[in-house]
Amino acid sequence: MNQSNTVRVRFAPSPTGNPHVGNFRTALYNYLFARHHGGEFLLRVEDTDRERSKPEYEDAILESLRWLGLELDGDPVRQSERAARHQAEANRLLAEGKAYRCRCTAERLDALREQQREKGETPMYDGHCREANHPDDGTPFCVRLKAPREGVTSIHDPIRGAVTVQNNELDDLVILRTDGSPTYNFAVVVDDGDMKITHVIRGDDHLRNTLRQVAIFDALGLELPRFAHLPQILGQDRTRLSKRHGAAGVLEYRDQGYLAEALVNYLARLGWGHGDQEVFTISELAEHFALENVNASAAVFDPQKLLWLAGEHMRRLPEDDLAARFVEHVQRRGLLTEQRIDNAPLKKIIACTRERSKTLEEMFDFVRFVFADRLEFDPDEAAKAFTPEAMASLADLADFAGTQSGKSPSHEEWENAFKAILEKHAIKMKVMAPAVRLALTGTKVSPPIFDVLDLLGTDEVQRRIQQALEYKSA
Ligand code: GLU
Repeated sequence: MNQSNTVRVRFAPSPTGNPHVGNFRTALYNYLFARHHGGEFLLRVEDTDRERSKPEYEDAILESLRWLGLELDGDPVRQSERAARHQAEANRLLAEGKAYRCRCTAERLDALREQQREKGETPMYDGHCREANHPDDGTPFCVRLKAPREGVTSIHDPIRGAVTVQNNELDDLVILRTDGSPTYNFAVVVDDGDMKITHVIRGDDHLRNTLRQVAIFDALGLELPRFAHLPQILGQDRTRLSKRHGAAGVLEYRDQGYLAEALVNYLARLGWGHGDQEVFTISELAEHFALENVNASAAVFDPQKLLWLAGEHMRRLPEDDLAARFVEHVQRRGLLTEQRIDNAPLKKIIACTRERSKTLEEMFDFVRFVFADRLEFDPDEAAKAFTPEAMASLADLADFAGTQSGKSPSHEEWENAFKAILEKHAIKMKVMAPAVRLALTGTKVSPPIFDVLDLLGTDEVQRRIQQALEYKSA
């Protein structure tokens, strides 16, 4: 820990592809850990692979963090801008005799690897230049760490327990390449040191790197952070999670209308738990989060459970928040014009859809008909629903709506009007209802009829029935 004992963690994604939902579980666990301890959550963009790193991927990372609500403490650090610092630290290690110039050529190293393979040994550098003390006389060289040869390297991981490797199984790692660029493991350690990172929480695919990085921390004279390795996330067929398991990028979930709260909740539960509680707010997660409660075995991504949680969060969000999210979603997706959004009966939309929608997109699907200028009728459905008796009853319903212009009849008033019309025509509701539904919504499935009447208002009800009557008589 650093002197002030403040917990400082970082999320260190490489912007080399569209960020995957699994990457953000790592981000989330770091965030929750920081918040739990009143610490700081930092971002380091590991963009040293100049060919594969793209600004749009970096933007997507930032936007995903923002949307999920994982606020950063301080500005992001960009690794590519720190090459001079990495080189300076490598030179310091050279000067202190903790690193050395290696002049071994690619041919020598290839031949060495080949020999070792033939003998059934693990290929590793043999330390040929370790004691050679090569000067910098213009001969090409790379810089290698003088790693300890005896003893063991051991970490205590709160998720996996003790992890130990014999030092003679690790070779002298290249820290600066022949072109002077820092290698991945070296850059990470210099940066973690400079950023005063106290806990490194990352995927267990980095376990081997961690064991190598320990020697770099030691050589640089840095205090070791604590390390925790998160198990992998698998698809339901227990292979590494990918798109075909129904796992999208964070921003795709946003665009599909998932609430950020639901995704955060789901990702947190993907390999961590607190009793048998399933639904958490982000502050509850921060309150309870502990690395010791992260499962050591791989987690399996379940899109159905995510969808279920999405519905739970729709019901828990305060009405005003939900209305604001709905508007934001509709705007982002360009589903309605600004004018339509401004005039939308938001309160009614929320009231009649929130219990039955799991996403904002589903919510919009239920009320899409409200915003249609002119409904298109499917001829077969129209033939079935728009019977002569039903049409006569529709005309009366339009008249009733006309008498109520400017008012909002209660469900009871609508119900009484329906009763009177049904009696007058001696028909059953099951004859009238499909015609009303089709005339008002253009579909067979919609929210309950009284909600539809409410959402449209009396004038629009009258106008739509008129259109249906015209359609039928055309
Ligand atoms: N850039 C690495 C990755 O995306 C992160 C490694 C780390 O957290 O140290 O896997």
